Amino acid sequence: MKVKGLALPLFALALTCTCGCGGGGFYKYDTLAYFNAPCRWAFVPAEQGGEKAVWQEVTALFSDIQTEVSLGVPASSISRFNAAKAGETVEIGAIAYDILTEAQALYTETEGAYNPAAGLYVDLWGFSPRVLNGEGEMRPYDRDKASVPDEEYLSAFMPLLDFSALSLFEEEGRYYAKKPEIVALVDGTEYTMELDLGGIAKGYACDKAAKIIRNAGYDLGFLNVGQSSMRVFAGEKGGDWEIEVNSPRAEISAGRFLSVKGKHVGVSTSGDYENYFTAEGRRYCHIIDPFTGYPANASPSGDGSGVVAASLFGVPATAGDALTTAVLVKGEEWAKAFLKTRYPEAKAVFTVWDGATGEYSVATDLKSGEYTLYAEIPVRAF
Ligand code: ADP
Ligand code: MG
Repeated sequence: MKVKGLALPLFALALTCTCGCGGGGFYKYDTLAYFNAPCRWAFVPAEQGGEKAVWQEVTALFSDIQTEVSLGVPASSISRFNAAKAGETVEIGAIAYDILTEAQALYTETEGAYNPAAGLYVDLWGFSPRVLNGEGEMRPYDRDKASVPDEEYLSAFMPLLDFSALSLFEEEGRYYAKKPEIVALVDGTEYTMELDLGGIAKGYACDKAAKIIRNAGYDLGFLNVGQSSMRVFAGEKGGDWEIEVNSPRAEISAGRFLSVKGKHVGVSTSGDYENYFTAEGRRYCHIIDPFTGYPANASPSGDGSGVVAASLFGVPATAGDALTTAVLVKGEEWAKAFLKTRYPEAKAVFTVWDGATGEYSVATDLKSGEYTLYAEIPVRAF
């Protein structure tokens, strides 16, 4: 996808300037070195320069976050926590501590739908870096190809999902996480709680980096961290951007899907369409429903109905990242009530699939005129 001088790779979110500037005044820095995802800062250069130093600060931050929380980094705080024994106290870095503290609040706020203790399930279903990149030691439940795991694992790991049992504490300027005592035993192998911050780390990085950029005085442009977290500043001359939300299904739109005009807003998206496999006609995505142990909308007792993609506008990126993940788990009705009470200023777009009719629809609280939908599917306003 190429947009007005800014070459945009395939993002869940993309932007075009609506102020008739043709993108001409904007420059960009890109990197693929962090979070396994493309990150971009688009900006209008300052008269005195200095963008390079800002970008260096942003990428140093990304590097620090990745080093502390990535499961692909064996020495990261989170990898070391995961490898620890039940009941062990692990020293973690300040960033990991900060993210875990926010994660605890979001776990409570979403009534457990956002749950970073789902790490073992993410691994069991084959969506961890260990499985995807073929790294690290084999595990007894590893399978030749993506498939539904054995029921004994799905039920045995349930007690390890109690994220509230994790304790975090600080002592003399050092940070610690104590692993819960709970152990799950399957065929003689012991399993303990494993964390996965993949549903929040990019949002956290986006908030912190946006702060660096704004403090350096850049008001125009945007920042996106991976395919799902974006902070939009203003367009040229302070105008709006046109924020593009990608289509979650080629069958409802192979091209443009939905766009919203706006500036100075955070945008987060989660969907079941980037990272998934299908087996016996069912789609199994990388977002785990901690109440069933199955991927969101894929429990055998359901018909697959649910929110297949959720975008939030106007929520800080850290919360937005976790909340859109939670919306896929909890569904439309919960999300509408939750947003109304907790984030009344936020706007939402949910794409919903009805398993009984096979129909897609969009639910949104954006007013007509505030967005353009290019797919020919029904819209339900809320
Ligand atoms: P993306 O990584 O595309 O931004 P999300 O923000 O929705 O997508 O995060 C999904 C990731 O979060 C998964 O790949 C996994 O690492 C982790 N995860 C999966 N299920 C949950 C859950 N219920 N709560 C918290 N994190 C989860
Ligand atoms: Mg998320």
